[in-house]
Amino acid sequence: MTVPLDRSTTWPYEDGEPGAFTYARYSNPTMAEAERRLGELDGGEALLFASGMAASTAVVMTFLSPGQTVARAEGAYYGTGVMLDELERWDVRHIEFDQTGAPPADADLIWVEAPSNPFLTMPNFEACAAHPAPVVCDATAATPLSVRPLELGCDFVVHSATKFLAGHDDALVGVVVCKRAEDAARLLEFRSRTGPVASADTAWMLLRGLSTLEVRVARQTESAGAIAERLRAHPAVKTVRYPGFGGLLSFDVADADAARRVETATRLIVNMTSLGGVASRIEARARWEGARVPAGLLRLSVGLEDVDELWADLERALATIS
Ligand SMILES: *Cc1c(COP(=O)(O)O)cnc(C)c1O
Repeated sequence: MTVPLDRSTTWPYEDGEPGAFTYARYSNPTMAEAERRLGELDGGEALLFASGMAASTAVVMTFLSPGQTVARAEGAYYGTGVMLDELERWDVRHIEFDQTGAPPADADLIWVEAPSNPFLTMPNFEACAAHPAPVVCDATAATPLSVRPLELGCDFVVHSATKFLAGHDDALVGVVVCKRAEDAARLLEFRSRTGPVASADTAWMLLRGLSTLEVRVARQTESAGAIAERLRAHPAVKTVRYPGFGGLLSFDVADADAARRVETATRLIVNMTSLGGVASRIEARARWEGARVPAGLLRLSVGLEDVDELWADLERALATIS
């Protein structure tokens, strides 16, 4: 039933010839099985990486050259922008655009997020597909159960599998799913040569997470929808952002002080970062993103706890600022 965990870093040749697995920097059987399942989920060829950011960095370094430009969705994952800042030293440039509209004409690679973290906007997939540049969609917050970007004209899907896919806050791992086999072959070559591969243990944890993905995301969607609705009716809450699917939402309270009071007053909902785990967590994003987000923006990732208990916890925390 369960996939064997093979921690080998090297495997014997067969009759003097390399077999399917030779050295763990290229691949290992546990990782290959996780890639097979992820490829099925998104409808492409999947490759695992040491983290979501390793996956994103590999896509940029494999498919772009110095002097080229990434057009990135504004308000999308903060870490992707920081990674692109880092790559500016190699003369890979980046600009931002509103992903609900058309990407800029001079982009060499388009980077959208479905839905964006923490603003929860969705890309205009049609406008992206009409652009000649390849399109990458970071679908971490959606998961393939809600959005399958390769079917909507994208060329690559990136997931931080650390989040919903692994789902238990105990595996740091990323994935790129390629639409075309030749892109997957080139990306595999880059990964093999530079080494940001996932370990067998991590792949095994991911496989275990994937076996419950559907029930987790269904429950998280149901609870997050109910909580978004109740937040919308709460007098201390200004804006609620929820795309109608998935376990991630964000909402604004008056200011930084109010946000701090709410995030430190919840008891069931943990005050910590990340998303997609079985335990609900909340945090003010301004601590990381500064003025890029409203000072009172709280990001909430809904876990598997009882929805009424979650709401009671939030209501009690919101009462401290009402
Ligand atoms: C967390 C996250 C990442 C980065 O993934 P890591 O596994 O932390 O490296 C990328 N994109 C989104 C949308 C994320 O939430």
